[in-house]
Amino acid sequence: MCSAALSSQPTATTGIVRVVLDVPLDRQFDYLNPGLDIRLGNRVVVPFAGRQLIAIVMALPEESEVPANKLKAVLQVFDDVPFDDTTLKLLRFCADYYHYPFGQTVLASLPLRLRQIKPAVSRKMWMYALAQVVPEGLAGKRQLVLARLLALLQQHSECSEAQLGDVSSSWRKTIQPLLDSGLVSRREVVAIRPSLAASDHEPTLNDEQAHAVKAILDKAGRFQPWLLFGVTGSGKTEVYIRLLQAVLAEPQSQALIMVPEINLTPQLEGRFRSRLSQFSLVTLHSHLSESERLQHWQAAQSGEARIVIGTRLSVFTPMPHLKLMILDEEHDSSYKQQDGMRYHARDVALVRAKQCGIPVVLGSATPSLESWYNALGQAAGPAASQKNPSYRLLTLKNRAAAQAQLPRIFCVDTTHSPPEAGLTPQLKQALTLRLQRGEQSLLFINRRGYAPVLHCSACQWLADCRRCSAKVVLHLRQRLLRCHHCGDEQPVPLQCPSCGNADLRPVGQATQRVEETLQQLFPQARVARVDRDTIQGKDALTELLSAVHAGKVDILIGTQMLAKGHDFANLTLVGVLDTDSALHSPDYRASERLFAQLMQVAGRAGRGDKPGEVLIQTAFPQHALFAALQQQNYAEFANSLLQERITLQFPPAAYIAVMKAEAADYALVEQFLTDLTQSAREFVAQHADAFAEKPMIYDPVRPGIARLNRMERGYVMLQCGQRGALQQLLQAAVAWARQHPMQAKIRWVVDVDALEY
Ligand code: ADP
Ligand code: ZN
Ligand code: ZN
Repeated sequence: MCSAALSSQPTATTGIVRVVLDVPLDRQFDYLNPGLDIRLGNRVVVPFAGRQLIAIVMALPEESEVPANKLKAVLQVFDDVPFDDTTLKLLRFCADYYHYPFGQTVLASLPLRLRQIKPAVSRKMWMYALAQVVPEGLAGKRQLVLARLLALLQQHSECSEAQLGDVSSSWRKTIQPLLDSGLVSRREVVAIRPSLAASDHEPTLNDEQAHAVKAILDKAGRFQPWLLFGVTGSGKTEVYIRLLQAVLAEPQSQALIMVPEINLTPQLEGRFRSRLSQFSLVTLHSHLSESERLQHWQAAQSGEARIVIGTRLSVFTPMPHLKLMILDEEHDSSYKQQDGMRYHARDVALVRAKQCGIPVVLGSATPSLESWYNALGQAAGPAASQKNPSYRLLTLKNRAAAQAQLPRIFCVDTTHSPPEAGLTPQLKQALTLRLQRGEQSLLFINRRGYAPVLHCSACQWLADCRRCSAKVVLHLRQRLLRCHHCGDEQPVPLQCPSCGNADLRPVGQATQRVEETLQQLFPQARVARVDRDTIQGKDALTELLSAVHAGKVDILIGTQMLAKGHDFANLTLVGVLDTDSALHSPDYRASERLFAQLMQVAGRAGRGDKPGEVLIQTAFPQHALFAALQQQNYAEFANSLLQERITLQFPPAAYIAVMKAEAADYALVEQFLTDLTQSAREFVAQHADAFAEKPMIYDPVRPGIARLNRMERGYVMLQCGQRGALQQLLQAAVAWARQHPMQAKIRWVVDVDALEY
């Protein structure tokens, strides 16, 4: 690069513009600059395959390998620069590591508004105020709008656009001369939701919390992952708040807090807003409108927002002064993206923290085995001890609030006390007692709908999804059979489609049915159900939660939506209806997930000053998982799971990636995957010397749900104890797949560090 224009400033008015596009081709494209003022990182519009696309400028070389007469010209340039070098470096890393086209990686990380062919002006929001005393008689008799606007501005120290808009739709036109003359002033505001009143309730940290805060702050300013392991209610959030207060005290510095699903944890956001009210805070998640999303993103990118709270995609948000990252509930599987680029936000956060040289705090009551492994080394047992612990472990052992006790956990053996309509006599009795005492109860069942199966007792027919190899769930109120995998709905048949028998019965329990049972058993109780069917829209959950806090609900029934982070002081009983299917799942991660889930629901009980009780209905009360749960001893359970993983060479003891393929016809999938395994094995054999450790290539298999949405599915698992070697193999496999003649007839994807197959 030696052109004068480039060396002084990365601007070019002629020459080549090299861009990335949102197309599934892993390469960059050259265009001619027709004399526009184009900078590195700009958004430009280019012609591509008969369409116009948004592109991001990656380089401004002087020459292209493509002859100039074959090159098309850039059509338009927008003057925003959405990316900085650091963010692009992170995206480059992810594209390589997850084997996803770089252009798609880059563009998918942007808010939708920046992927559209439009200038990125989020409409600015202003607050208006009088700057001078209003001269007598300024508004003439017929200037009614002006008079009212002035009256409003005199009443309030500041007025929002919405307030002024209530006066008249022509308010903008009327107020403009006042702005011009300096009578009225305005200041721009970031469209963040109103800050809550500042809360001065600041508990004195206990020793464990104080130690954690000090340890992290002592090493602030350099890369260090921390695993903050603390039971629910142990005061992790309080630790986050103290860290933020300290880190943000430095002018300009920014912090990113990631949460699994923000709309499930409105309380958390509220706490941050009230305790850190002096710092501008924006959220980034899927419940924002596109213009809010753009505005919040821009506030983060410009440095105006000091705190960003977001879900997994926010890990890519450019933040020029990022000094701290926090991942709450780091074990939560919603940090893993399940389509497009299948990244894991926790892993990306670690890479980002390393690139920025800052601390990253992973918090959980039930850390993922990945993080546990990284933090423990020695303590996890002999096999893991070869590993250098790269994370530092900080433990909070007890509940923080003075009176709050950990709940007592009991198993109810369903082989001795069979449940009736889902409830054992013990659970019914416990519910009765809570109703008598005026305390609240929560019943946890992780299946929405009425019943998981519709069954014909004459011929054993079971209702299947028309598009998937899965059973459909009966939703009685809507009179529908719904597939929870593809969303397909069908009417409930009046008789058995197989034998004509009219006596079709729902089998098993789900939330609607439990609700019905409770209403019959306890007609006087106020019962509320919380699942994806009842909680729709932004504020539905918040409303329901405040009803619970206000004591307007006696019994809550809910799915895992209820398990997270809510703090109900008067809730003293948690009943877990059915976990046995998860206990014996073929998925090796099932028990890790189940433990986390149960620990979390159990954590809902006894948050206030009354002791909590948890009843788990199971046919396997002797299971080691329950023993560990009863002792609230995740460490021991995690260590035993880890030993198992080490023996079996499953993650985190080894690395895996899966190549998944699907097509209308399984023969095609099988052929493709068989070819793949063969050529991958040949590749490994041929390059044996180049591999530090030889990866394993398994035969093609079908997943649990072999057909999904009318597509037949299969996958091949690649596994290796060494990350680099697996990446080497993947690179070859992906290159191979991109060339494959069947490419057009099947869909395939790579899922690195896959959680689900
Ligand atoms: P976690 O995030 O681990 O679930 P929280 O930070 O939400 O825990 O704390 C649980 C409860 O204990 C909250 O009501 C919080 O205000 C309170 N709390 C936290 N730290 C302390 C402390 N040091 N002293 C008294 N109460 C505390
Ligand atoms: Zn039948
Ligand atoms: Zn289906």
